[in-house]
Amino acid sequence: MANNSQDRALRERAAQVIPGGMYGHQSTALMPDGFPQFFTKAEGTRITDADGNQYIDYMCAYGPNLMGYHHPDIARAISAQQTSIDAATGPSPLIVDLAEAMVGMISHADWAMFCKNGGDATMMALMIARAYRGKRKVLVAKNAYHGAMPWNTPRPGGVLPEDRAHLIYFDYNDTQALEDAANEAGNDLAGIFAAPFRHDTFTDQSMPDREYAQAARRIADEYDALLVVDDVRAGFRMCRDCSWETVGVRPDLSAWGKVLGNGQPISALLGNDRAREAATKIFVTGSYWFAAVPMAAALETMRLIRETDYLEHMTVIGQSFRKGLAEQAVSNGFGLRQTGPVTLPMVLFEDDPDFRIGYGFCQAALKRGVYLSPYHNMFMNAAMTRSDIALTLEATGAAFEDIKRSRASLKPSAALTALIDA
Ligand code: PMP
Repeated sequence: MANNSQDRALRERAAQVIPGGMYGHQSTALMPDGFPQFFTKAEGTRITDADGNQYIDYMCAYGPNLMGYHHPDIARAISAQQTSIDAATGPSPLIVDLAEAMVGMISHADWAMFCKNGGDATMMALMIARAYRGKRKVLVAKNAYHGAMPWNTPRPGGVLPEDRAHLIYFDYNDTQALEDAANEAGNDLAGIFAAPFRHDTFTDQSMPDREYAQAARRIADEYDALLVVDDVRAGFRMCRDCSWETVGVRPDLSAWGKVLGNGQPISALLGNDRAREAATKIFVTGSYWFAAVPMAAALETMRLIRETDYLEHMTVIGQSFRKGLAEQAVSNGFGLRQTGPVTLPMVLFEDDPDFRIGYGFCQAALKRGVYLSPYHNMFMNAAMTRSDIALTLEATGAAFEDIKRSRASLKPSAALTALIDA
């Protein structure tokens, strides 16, 4: 990296006033050394760090950036709404417009509720599943991320076994394991959580088997429980509907977030008529949940989703990224595993159990202006152009040559090793 003095100074200040210097998934503690923690600008496909270094950004704010940061149409909708009403004593009519827009687009949905984060939506799904028939047990795939509340946060601090007393875990895509978990829950089965595909950190992604997805639907029906698809991460990057439409399965509830407002804070829980009464029984709310500006952004984002070829474009761009990386890996003698949809690329190296090759590769790409993740799925956005991909592949081509040269001296990340050992 050309310069990181501002980033270092900010980290020192942050260490005094922010626990651990930073927290949550945007802490760079686990990222390779040299990854900047602070950014001052995001525009289109690019982010600029506190020292003025610019990167083509393949993390897209960990999802929200779907159309390009500051998409002009969405920016206009935001500015226009800011002049009238945002957070106030009651919601604006936009909440009805947005609920109608989403119910109109998402096949399984008859109603919508809005909130702020994906974790709000998954928490509401959990509560509605339990309120539906007054049952307690909920099935969740092992290692699947559904948010950072006591019932689902991936790290143990501050969490009691009691917080998870009624969760039963099973292996994703394993129909028998799902059946066994449902048997264990018996008459107390309230709901089944499903990720659209397996997108756990540090592991290859896998698409859902049709048979498994259909079994989840059948089991939910047999036990009179609710099926929930958590589309917070994958939503609108697989199709213009709930992601499990791709395997012909309609859930009772689906959780949405991230892309909904193209970066404005808004998330949603959608449901069908079967779940409607239970949804009226729970009390959930938040000071900002009814704010109109993010809803204006979401309405405009929905319009772009319906009316543009954003998805087909991202797919073509994602394919050329994947193909380019695959060719470079082969010509430099590396085995690469690229899994999941091309719009949500996951890139992991063969023979790299402690991720040292992946870390070295991402570090070398970062130096050349491309921001990649060595352990998390990445995200395509619709502002990406062929020339962005060409620039990216130029950088990654040089990064492969770097790690080919330095392979023997690459070291595992101390922070990652500590996490694995903990
Ligand atoms: N579910 C999934 C599948 C997610 O990927 C995320 C966020 N990474 C969440 C839920 C939680 O969303 P948020 O961080 O907005 O609370």
